[in-house]
Parts: sequence; structure tokens; C-alpha cells
Amino acid sequence: MKQSFETQLLNVPYDKQDAHLALSMPVYNAVAFECDTAEEMEQLFSGQAPGHYYSRVSNPTVAYYEERVQALTGAMSVTASNSGMSAISDTLMTIAYAGANIVSSNHLFGNTYSLMKNIFSHFDVELRTCDMTNLDEVRSQIDNRTCAVFLEIISNPQLEVVDLKSLSAVCNELNVPLIADSTVVPFCVFDAKALGVNIEVISSTKYISGGATSTGGLLIDYGTFDWSRSKALKTWHDKFGNKAFTMRMKKETGRCLGSYMTPQAAYMQTLGLETLKMRFERQSSTCLALAQRLQTLPAIASVNYPGLKDSTFYQISLAQFGQYPGAMLTIDLASRAACFDCLNRLKIIRRATNLFDNRSLAIHPASTIYVTFSLEQREKMHIREHTIRLSIGLESVDDLFEDIRQSLSR
Ligand SMILES: *Cc1c(COP(=O)(O)O)cnc(C)c1O
Repeated sequence: MKQSFETQLLNVPYDKQDAHLALSMPVYNAVAFECDTAEEMEQLFSGQAPGHYYSRVSNPTVAYYEERVQALTGAMSVTASNSGMSAISDTLMTIAYAGANIVSSNHLFGNTYSLMKNIFSHFDVELRTCDMTNLDEVRSQIDNRTCAVFLEIISNPQLEVVDLKSLSAVCNELNVPLIADSTVVPFCVFDAKALGVNIEVISSTKYISGGATSTGGLLIDYGTFDWSRSKALKTWHDKFGNKAFTMRMKKETGRCLGSYMTPQAAYMQTLGLETLKMRFERQSSTCLALAQRLQTLPAIASVNYPGLKDSTFYQISLAQFGQYPGAMLTIDLASRAACFDCLNRLKIIRRATNLFDNRSLAIHPASTIYVTFSLEQREKMHIREHTIRLSIGLESVDDLFEDIRQSLSR
């Protein structure tokens, strides 16, 4: 019988049993692993035999975390890295080349946008932005130098939702891999493979870490893209077939950039993983209930959450993520001053960045995450002066509602 997600979360066995039969994975804080013979070393380094030799390349504790995620997602391969940003940069560095372009959106997490716009441009990799909800526009941006289409499944903080099945059909037809950042709705609800996503990247700092215990990233390869169609990976494809991306990312990009997760973080994130579904359900259902109640407050001009029936994205969000599309919502107030006022009066909700901590968090994106962007750029990205982003935690919905209500009343 196939186990349920909840049961599987707790029961992915180690590949090697612990000497003391410890129930949780031991933390191997070791840098190097010894070999009995020179021949064995050669085999390990050349990849002919499996095993760990250096913790920048692989580590048993991190590998166990990766195996658990692999079992839960049904992916071909999972790699854990030090942050969501390192998962994104490793992914793009593996498939980009000078002269290539990446087709994406103006609706992107600030650092992801900066990576593509300010860093990749120095290596002659162009960021082409378009409206991802308009497939004709996406199609018109793609050419034979497009190395990837990249998007966030619910954009942070604009909360835009794209029809992934239709988008992936276009990508497939035009021979471009579809890469999706699914940080906002993790794999306990979101089935990336079924919707045609080829590579999934996640900031596991957010839900998975189990309450902001550590930064981390996950890079999930479903093995569904034909990499013979990728300029950067053609020779890797000749050798490794549909594992071309994963092999280059592990054997070249990741190890050269030194982004591999640390064993301490992997231990904390494995614990976080065990309670992921429970926390996600609680936080996202609270988020919907709160969003509905906030709509009754006259000081709030609009409440934005794709789980609300009057959201433009309600139907597609329901189809892709179910009733509760995550625990992030935004509210629009009268002005920037009103936002600062509201933030300053909050008593329970914390003034902090980050998403999906166990505590609820509030931030004014325009003056923080996007503070280094020009006004013109912020306008292009729809980062508005009158918007507050809320990340909903495990508190009761009554207390959260009351906190926001009191923060808005003079
Ligand atoms: C936070 C976040 C990231 C970056 O993750 P880090 O772990 O902070 O590096 C990337 N994408 C989205 C959507 C995020 O919310």
C-alpha cells in the first residue's frame, strides 16, 4: 500500500543504518571521509562508486534530507543548498551561457531579479521580462538562445498566479525548460511534475525549515526535460541522458560555487520537514480566514490573496494549489504613511522580513526588500508604496485579526 504523505514524511529509511540505531539522522559534522585504498579514492572521485569524501560535495546528513524530499516529491534527483538564492543561482548557472537569455517576469522576488538583471548581464546573459499570464507575450520573447523560462508559482509579493499547464506546453513546444520557484506553496500541496515544471527550486528557509531555524534551498529535477535541446548541456546529455542537468549541477556548478548545505542546517530542515504538512495546512487556512475578515475593515482598500473568491487568480489557484494557496497575503492601505502607522502599532505580528515563520510577520516591501530599486523599476514590478505584506504564522485567527484591526484604528 502506498503510504500517505504524512506517514511518508516520518518514514523514509536511511540508506545505511546508524551504528546505535538512533531514530533521528545523526549530524555528521565531518569535512572529509576516509578511504581504505587508493583505488577506492579514485572510484569515489571519478563517480564510479557512490559515497562521500568531502562535505562541500556531499555529506551523509544532507544526503538523508535530500532522500526524504526525493521520496516525497517522486523527483529524479534533489540537491540541498545553503539558501533559496543559491539553489536559484546554481540552477541558472548550470544552463546559461554567454549570449543566452532567460525569459521571466517583472513579478519576481527582489534578489532573484537582481541576480538575473545585475549579475548575469555582466556575463552576457540577458533577462527578458514579460507578462507570464499572456502566453503570446511569452512566446514572442522566446528564441533559440532562450536557456530557460523562470517564474514563481505565486509571485512574491504581487501574488500573481500563472496557468502552469498552458505555459509548460508552450515551453515544451519551443524546447525550453520551465523552472519554477515554488517557495510559497510547497510540495505537500503543489505537484510541480504534474503541471509540467521541469526544475523546481525552493527556499526551504521558509516553510520547510520548521519555523525559521536555518536558511536553505532545494533544487528538484524531475528528469522530464530532454537536455539534448539545451546548448549548455548538450555534451552532458550525450554522456548522462536525462540526468545531464543534475550531473553538471552537482559535479560542476554546485561544487565550484560551494553552495552545498551544511549538516547542521540539514538536520534542522529534516525535523522541519516532518511537520511541514501540518504547519502548512494550519497557516494557510488561517491565512484564508484572516483575508476574508480583513475585507470587512474599511481602512483596508484591498486584500490580496489568490484564495479569495473575488481574486482574479481564484480559479487557477484553486486548480493548482487547492483551497489554501499558502500563508502570504498583502493589504493595500491609503498611503505609505498609513502602512508605516499600521506597522508601528502592531503588537502580535512582528515587524520582520522572511516568510512562513511560526510567528506572523509584516513588512512594507517598497521601503525594505525593494529599497535599492529605483521608483521606475518598482513601478514596473508593481511594488506599491501603499502595500503591506503579511506572512501568517500559527497564532489564532482571532488574535491576528484583532491586532490588525487595532493597528488601523485611530
Ligand atoms: C525568500 C525567497 C527566496 C530566497 O530564499 P533565501 O533562502 O532567502 O535565499 C527566493 N524566492 C522566493 C519566492 C522567496 O520568498
